[in-house]
Amino acid sequence: MPKPAPRVEKVPPYLFARIDKKKAEARARGIDLVDLGVGDPDIPTPPHIVKAMQEALKNPKNHRYPDYEGTPALRRAAAEWFFKRYGVQLDPDREVLILIGSKEGIAHLPWAYLGEGDTALIPSPGYPVYKVMSLLAGGTPYIMPLREENEFRPVFDDIPEEMKKKAKICFLNYPNNPTGAYGDDAFYEKAIDLARKYDILICHDAAYSELTYDGYTAKSILEFDREKRYSIEFLSLSKTYCMTGWRVAFAVGSAAAIENLGKLKTNIDSGVFLAIQEAAVTALSGSQDCVREVKEIFQRRRDLAVDGLASAGIRVRKPRATFYIWAHVPQGYTSAAFAEMLIEKTGVVVTPGSGFGEEGEGYFRVSITAPEERILEAAARLRKLGL
Ligand SMILES: *Cc1c(COP(=O)(O)O)cnc(C)c1O
Repeated sequence: MPKPAPRVEKVPPYLFARIDKKKAEARARGIDLVDLGVGDPDIPTPPHIVKAMQEALKNPKNHRYPDYEGTPALRRAAAEWFFKRYGVQLDPDREVLILIGSKEGIAHLPWAYLGEGDTALIPSPGYPVYKVMSLLAGGTPYIMPLREENEFRPVFDDIPEEMKKKAKICFLNYPNNPTGAYGDDAFYEKAIDLARKYDILICHDAAYSELTYDGYTAKSILEFDREKRYSIEFLSLSKTYCMTGWRVAFAVGSAAAIENLGKLKTNIDSGVFLAIQEAAVTALSGSQDCVREVKEIFQRRRDLAVDGLASAGIRVRKPRATFYIWAHVPQGYTSAAFAEMLIEKTGVVVTPGSGFGEEGEGYFRVSITAPEERILEAAARLRKLGL
């Protein structure tokens, strides 16, 4: 067996492997696990979208190779949805690209921009794909810490001048996984200023754009870059319409960035299954009541989970967005040790903050992707620990 390529050896070990092992052990002991670890909605895809898929599946035209860049109908539906939502007009032919989930686009983007020695500005804690794929592409990640005192937003002024000059791309993600933080106007303005001054492409991951609460509505980076010169934004149907398994998303923004990413992709994949693209048109252009309903469910769960964690002696803030709660690890534990202890002693599964990068140490992530009674059950078990 040949040795793997050096680039693969650069991939950091999978940090959740130990948690998975603890889960398997607990299950083997017959423990009823309350899994608040995974970021995957437990709510089914709305029925009208499933129905659209069933119809689309019957059409033999949909069984063939899809258009690489997405069907004109889906690109148009995405542009119309985006205009209704953010008031920014997009050219469906040049400024929209359909993706096989946003993870796919995010993973490929560094390959379209980074050469040896180029820097990528990466938030930590963060979605691990930004850093790993920047490394694999041959780039050098520069970590921007997200700290609570800065509302979990990077402080661009803290980045050394030399790094800003070497940087070609900058990943941002608001509403944020794992912290639940959001971006305000001043922050987005600063991001675009940085891009303009240093010729950096801002790659905004907006996977949670619709999961916002208490009357808060998330902004698009394109509202601050109306000429679409400095940014590309990744939007996904996964979390918005509970369609994680379907694998459909889209990128919008700079025509040059869309073209470069598309050029790379045509040599890698062959687009999203056409029946899924038809169902995605239904999701984006049909009634958005299903999104409101999902938000209400998550908002209620969030309130229960935050109160439950606080009642167990855990320091926690109420997030205005996402289905995550970013909580402080009690004194005396690392985040990994705390998560392992929780599984062993209570059967409650959470994600250790260190799994999202070093700056996540001291925190753990709770996903409210389980029914209310399970969230209450987890809170009751945590209270018994007497933390
Ligand atoms: C879930 C998630 C994604 C991936 O979404 P897909 O469109 O399903 O690939 C991307 N970014 C973040 C931060 C996520 O949490």
